[in-house]
Formats: sequence, C-alpha cells, structure tokens
Amino acid sequence: MNPVPETRPGLLAVPDKMPYTQSMLIDRFGRHVTYVRISVTDRCDFRCVYCMAEDMVFVPRAQLLTLEELAIIAQAFTELGVTKIRITGGEPLVRRNVIKLFRDIGQLSGLIELVTTTNGSQLPRMARDLKDAGVRRINISLDSLDPDKFRRITRVGDLNKVLAGIDAAIDAGFELIKINAVVLKNRNHDEVADLVRFASGKGMDISFIEEMPLGVIGDHDRAEAYYSSDQIRTELEKTFTLIPTTESTGGPARYYRIQETGTRVGFISPHSHNFCESCNRVRLTCEGRLLLCLGQEHSVDLRHVVRAHPGNMEKLKQAIRNSMMIKPKGHDFNLQAKPVILRYMNVTGG
Ligand code: SAM
Ligand code: SF4
Repeated sequence: MNPVPETRPGLLAVPDKMPYTQSMLIDRFGRHVTYVRISVTDRCDFRCVYCMAEDMVFVPRAQLLTLEELAIIAQAFTELGVTKIRITGGEPLVRRNVIKLFRDIGQLSGLIELVTTTNGSQLPRMARDLKDAGVRRINISLDSLDPDKFRRITRVGDLNKVLAGIDAAIDAGFELIKINAVVLKNRNHDEVADLVRFASGKGMDISFIEEMPLGVIGDHDRAEAYYSSDQIRTELEKTFTLIPTTESTGGPARYYRIQETGTRVGFISPHSHNFCESCNRVRLTCEGRLLLCLGQEHSVDLRHVVRAHPGNMEKLKQAIRNSMMIKPKGHDFNLQAKPVILRYMNVTGG
C-alpha cells in the first residue's frame, strides 16, 4: 500500500485509492462501526479542570465545520450504516443555531438514536427544542452537588443552573436521562453515594468516569487524582446493594443495578478495564477530523473532503469507508507518562 499523503500536519489526506468498497463500516479487526460522536464546537461556558486548561485557546471559527457540513457528514455516516449519533463538544448547546442541526440529523433515515451530552447549563431554555428535534436520550454532566466544589471543578460553573437544566430535561420528557460524573480523588470522590441518591431520586441513570489523560490541563497531576471504578464501587457498596447486569448501551460502560432503587449505575474505566475489543464508534472533531480512536491520533481529514468536493457524497463516503483501514486496535492510556494525546477532550468530543 502506498503511504497516505498528509494535508494538515498530523492529519491523513483522503485515502481515495484504497480498496474499501463495502456498504457498512467494518474495520480490520472485524469491528462494526455503527456509532459516531460529533463535536460541534470546542467552546464551552465551563472550564472543567480535567477537560481544559484555564486559558484555553479555541479553534478559529473558519476552521470549524459549518452546520451544513456537519449535517452532510452525518448523512454520509447514516448511509454507511451508522444508527446512532451523539452530538457533543465542547458544550454543544452554546453553538449558535445548533437546534437546526439536531433537527436535520433527527430526520436522517436509518438513524435510530440521536443523543447528546451536555453540561446542562443551557437546558432550561433548550430542553424542549431538543426533545422536539428528535433527541431521545440525554447525558448531563454533574460532578458535585456542593456549589463550591462544583465551582472548583468547573472553574466557572453555577450548580443551580445545571440543577434547573436537569429539571427542565425531566419536564421535557426524554426517554432516558443519565448523569455523567468524572471522579477525582480529593475533589469529589466523597460524593459518589450522594450522586447516586440524587440520580435515583429523579429517576435517572448515572455513570462514573475515570479521568482520561487528554491534553495538558495544568490543574492537577492526573496520576495523583486517579480514583478507580473499583474504588467507587467499593464505596457505593457501603450504602447500596449493587447487582451486576449484562445490560449494555453498546458502549464501554459496565452496568450494575442498585437493588434498593432500581437505578442503573455505569462505570467507564479506560484504565482499569480496557474496552477496545468491542469498540463500535468513531469521533468527528469540530474541525472535521475523523478520529478512529479516542486514545490515538489516527485520523482522516473530512473537512478537506467536503471542501474540496462540495456536494460529492460519494467522495465523502469513500473517505469514511477507507478510514476503517487505519482504525487502531486500541488506546494506550498511561497516567504515569506525559500526555501523549495533546488534544483536549472538548475538541475530541467526549
Ligand atoms: N460539555 C458537555 C459535557 O460536559 O457534558 C459535553 C462535552 S464533555 C467533553 C463530555 C464528557 O466528557 C463529560 O461527561 C465530561 O465530564 C467528560 N470528560 C471531559 N474531559 C474528560 C477527561 N479528561 N476524562 C474523562 N472524561 C472527561
Ligand atoms: Fe465544558 Fe464539558 Fe469540558 Fe466541562 S467537560 S469544560 S462542560 S466541554
């Protein structure tokens, strides 16, 4: 195979002479890609300490995919058998006119699930529109129920706004609302039982996430702040009875049910339990870089494709098909080493 030429530094160009012709997205390891996470902006109204540096420099607007380009790429994916799309960011709900994108994607034939992940701050004004656009399930990030701790973790966030956002989502009637909490030692590890109680009380699921080493955040030493899913589970077992379940949402989380309340509790554990063998997803950054793995830099420049061949759906689909040839076997996260992945989670689309 000829080496793939580069367009932007670190990016692979359209590998359009490669021999991938199938109508579904299957990689070299036989994994079937049916799920795409799309980051629609790297901007955010929060500055969470695990996600961003305090003085983040954001991508210039001209480098962002337009809403039209995002919709076309989403369409190409659904024509290649993708059935689930998550709109994320940065904070997806701070992107201007993003509801239009939700509506456009919500109407794509073949799409079974349109979902989103948000910090919740904009939900009081947008929850209803999201539901009407076709979003069925929503993940809301909430790391602390203490306003001061919440402010320290998000640097600028207002807990009350997020709590109001959660209530607005409940009122809007989503099929499922899940709380996502990143747990850091000595920041919020003592709140895991309270967070489960809060989620149970409102009929929501909750997932706990181990921090991943993406980007140079400056705030803390990630190895020191590491708090494993096993530690969280042990902590929860002091208060609740956790019943393991084989339920899956097709993602990396391992699930338990709380016997006392029926609440589903997930654990996303990239360090303690590698989840790569069953990976069914790829990610599109807000600049149009198709990332084949969260923890590696293998990528294809889809912005180049849509801008070089406007309206040419076949070129776009072929570039996506070909990308399957470079989807790596798995990530290689190492908390002891300097960050190898310099891209931040807000650019990546968590
Ligand atoms: N702004 C939205 C939010 O916070 O939900 C969506 C984007 S955010 C990048 C998506 C998810 O990634 C959030 O649940 C967040 O807590 C998580 N996240 C961000 N940085 C992370 C990191 N370094 N390790 C693990 N999870 C991270
Ligand atoms: Fe913003 Fe979400 Fe990153 Fe927090 S985790 S800074 S809310 S993008």
